[in-house]
Amino acid sequence: MKDCIFCKIVKGDVAAYKLYEDDDIISFLDIFPIHPGHALVVPKKHSVDIFDTDEETMGKMMKVAKKLSPSVMKGTKANGINIGMNNRAAAGQEVLHAHVHIIPRYDDDGLKAWSKNLFKDDKHKKELYEAIKKEL
Ligand code: AMP
Ligand code: ZN
Repeated sequence: MKDCIFCKIVKGDVAAYKLYEDDDIISFLDIFPIHPGHALVVPKKHSVDIFDTDEETMGKMMKVAKKLSPSVMKGTKANGINIGMNNRAAAGQEVLHAHVHIIPRYDDDGLKAWSKNLFKDDKHKKELYEAIKKEL
């Protein structure tokens, strides 16, 4: 995809610190890491997000995230790892080429992964449960 920064990295037109590469997936260091050593796992074929990435490719991305996580953990001397994927702007996606984040985390690093919320009441919970199930 023209003008896609990750496609340019896949093609070799933009430099990156590559950690892993196979026929379908590459992984490289995030240029603006949450903590240094934060890595991205990226399918070589352009897709935008989880919604238009096929199941097989999603599986391959997670397989590579699984493979690389111990190395990121050890190499950064992290105490934990977040695996995440932002999909659409509302979820914080900035680069519109699908990718999974491998984020090193440290005890007391002050970052909150998520704030918690509550259902309005039991009726609300049930309605949402039914609405999601209906879409399965
Ligand atoms: P997201 O917000 O999930 O779309 O994350 C995109 C990530 O890509 C951000 O963490 C950026 O720091 C990272 N990023 C953007 N451009 C580059 C680049 N040229 N090389 C490596 N990482 C990049
Ligand atoms: Zn792309």
